[in-house]
Amino acid sequence: MWYFRSPEIVFGRDALDHLTQLSGKKAFIVTDTGIQKLGFVEKVQAKLKQAGLASQVFSQVEPEPTPDTIKRGAEAMAAYQPDWIVGLGGGSPIDAAKAMWILYENPQADILAINPFEPLNLRQKAKMVAISATSGTGAEVTWGIVITDPADKRKVAVGAPENTPDIAIVDPTLAVTMPPQLTADTGMDALTHAIEGYTSTWNNVFSDGLCLQAIKLIFTYLPRAVANGEDEEARENMHNAAAIAGLGFINSMCSLAHALGHSLGGLYEIAHGRAVGLFLPYTIQFNTFENSEQTRYHEIAAFLGLPAASVQQGTNSLIQALGQLANQIKQPRSIQQALSISLETLENDLDQLVEHAETDTQIITAVRSPNTQDIRKLFLYAYHGKDIDW
Ligand SMILES: [Zn+2]
Repeated sequence: MWYFRSPEIVFGRDALDHLTQLSGKKAFIVTDTGIQKLGFVEKVQAKLKQAGLASQVFSQVEPEPTPDTIKRGAEAMAAYQPDWIVGLGGGSPIDAAKAMWILYENPQADILAINPFEPLNLRQKAKMVAISATSGTGAEVTWGIVITDPADKRKVAVGAPENTPDIAIVDPTLAVTMPPQLTADTGMDALTHAIEGYTSTWNNVFSDGLCLQAIKLIFTYLPRAVANGEDEEARENMHNAAAIAGLGFINSMCSLAHALGHSLGGLYEIAHGRAVGLFLPYTIQFNTFENSEQTRYHEIAAFLGLPAASVQQGTNSLIQALGQLANQIKQPRSIQQALSISLETLENDLDQLVEHAETDTQIITAVRSPNTQDIRKLFLYAYHGKDIDW
């Protein structure tokens, strides 16, 4: 038995207008200061007002929020007693909103321990709308929540299917202000979701089509959206693709590139999408090394119309295409390129990096299970930017 989960999705250039149709009394908006400066909060509040809803704003969400921030937000929520939670932003504010919502309805919960196996009984007090302002994480359609555990210097992915937002608003007009670097970073995240979602061991027929479509859209439109942020067609397709990839991966799961990326990002300052996108080609090489039965990367290549006469050729074509895309949108191809750290620094941190990757939830669905030594090698290959010869 398997489940496919999705919010109601409202997409297109006037999707934000859907807010005027909500019924309720009070909305609590969770966002960050960057989004607030862009004037999106006022826009959202005006639409909510048309629906007869009062609103309050919490804008202190930092990138990859900490349990402290979530606790503060949940306390403000408890004081305000909203019947709608609105997560507005990139992945961090939307994830923070999900986590605050859980604490609002379950004040005793340990946010770092939220998992799919214990009921949360949400929606006794409020429902949730997620509005995406970046085109990457897919957080608007997923139940995943990424939190920084500062005590352990690591990022943890928590959440339960219950905390899938009720409504996702995917309005591309909110994405046009993203600068090229953010467009590239978040786009690589979406691409990694789609490729890992298609290839994870929990892949399934419902997710497959979504992942393939997202991959095609991203290869077509990401370079355009990075080159010219005002390219409306590219922005709209990327905004949709991120949500489609989100739906694809949350119903199958991510995999090794995410485990490695979370680990690297916990110790060093690097954007999530840049980190997972960097590891993706290395993990494909690892997953397919001397394994002609792993045909899914070849299927992706064939779907994209890349040279794919054999499984090996298809896999290689995909790896090559990923490299070309990274060059085109100026994404780093190695850890050395991405971070100015010496090999010595990486080697000093390697035990911790490996341990965090090994215990990351996303490793459960790895195409090929790596052992400790494999993970060490993956980090070192990715540091030097060398092709993997296992
Ligand atoms: Zn991701």
